[in-house]
Amino acid sequence: MTTWPSWLPLRANLRELSPYGAPQVPATAIMNTNENPYSPSLQLAQAISDRIKEVSLTLNRYPDRDAITLRNKLADFINGLSCTNFSSENVWAANGSNEIIQSLFLAFGSGKALGFTPSYSMHPLIAKVTQVQWIAGTRALDFSLDVDSAIAQIEDSQPVLTFITTPNNPTGTSISLSELERIAQNCPGLLVIDEAYAEFSDEKSAVTLIEKYPHIVVIRTMSKAFAFAGARLGYLVAHPSVIESMFLVRLPYHLSALTQAAAEVAIDFSDELLATVSQLRKARELMKVNLEQLGLRVVPSSSNFLLFTGFKQPSAQLWQALLDRGVLIRDVGLLGYLRVTIGNEAENKNFIESLSSCLGEK
Ligand SMILES: *Cc1c(COP(=O)(O)O)cnc(C)c1O
Repeated sequence: MTTWPSWLPLRANLRELSPYGAPQVPATAIMNTNENPYSPSLQLAQAISDRIKEVSLTLNRYPDRDAITLRNKLADFINGLSCTNFSSENVWAANGSNEIIQSLFLAFGSGKALGFTPSYSMHPLIAKVTQVQWIAGTRALDFSLDVDSAIAQIEDSQPVLTFITTPNNPTGTSISLSELERIAQNCPGLLVIDEAYAEFSDEKSAVTLIEKYPHIVVIRTMSKAFAFAGARLGYLVAHPSVIESMFLVRLPYHLSALTQAAAEVAIDFSDELLATVSQLRKARELMKVNLEQLGLRVVPSSSNFLLFTGFKQPSAQLWQALLDRGVLIRDVGLLGYLRVTIGNEAENKNFIESLSSCLGEK
């Protein structure tokens, strides 16, 4: 923990925090932050450059504050995937879904926020930073979400914001749409569904529940399946009143003209960008088999990563041994577990071979 100088008027609730810090270190196989390993095509890169060049000629002016074109495109994109009927009034966009999460806390964090641990570590971290009381709820021992237990926990703490990540990070487990619906029927405040990995799952998106349950808010991102993490674009699909509330807490012109332009072009290339999803899902199943052949246990995943256990070394030691071989995976702070992102073929092979030799060491 950092020792802060006494003259620094840092908020008391921040003094004990550590910044978010997935290590960004050189490695041959980068398999720690759940990105899509396949980079954009030359055609997409060219289309983005062309559009950015056009936009550059107007950079003396502020961007469209409300990102109307982009929000319309995102609405059409979601409608195409989920057979819904949303417009820009149902969509909010920001610099990554982390900014969306921050805006939700700023707008609605008048009471407690509840999540089901282990889950995405940024939910409680952003809650702390925005001074919202976070309740760490629990999951079943196999990391699945027991719906009756979840409903009892919601009943107990009466949160204004309940977070469910499905497929969940870091476990990969997901819950069905009918189970989500049961939770929605028993949830005060807003039910926030973080669907960062939805494209990797067979389950229908929770956006299809919004019309019936206007307190359901769905967070999506271009950072994972969509292979666009570097651009920073996350979005929210919700009832228009939720979107209108976002206008109150967003910073003026929060989304740069460059980001808007790049994201708009990327959506035009969505077929290409999502083409690798089925390949990654197949690679996930193969990696699961390979891990089990090494005598490890793998948590069922409908995402683009696997959480595995059953090794003898402490997690941190095995993580380091892999990094020494050029393979960067993630120690998510769960005793006896490590998480690996599905990479490209060469990375996956490298990972399994390196892991195999690490496990053989004493
Ligand atoms: C990666 C991730 C996000 C955030 O991603 P952005 O890059 O900020 O859009 C949000 N939620 C979960 C569960 C994630 O794993």
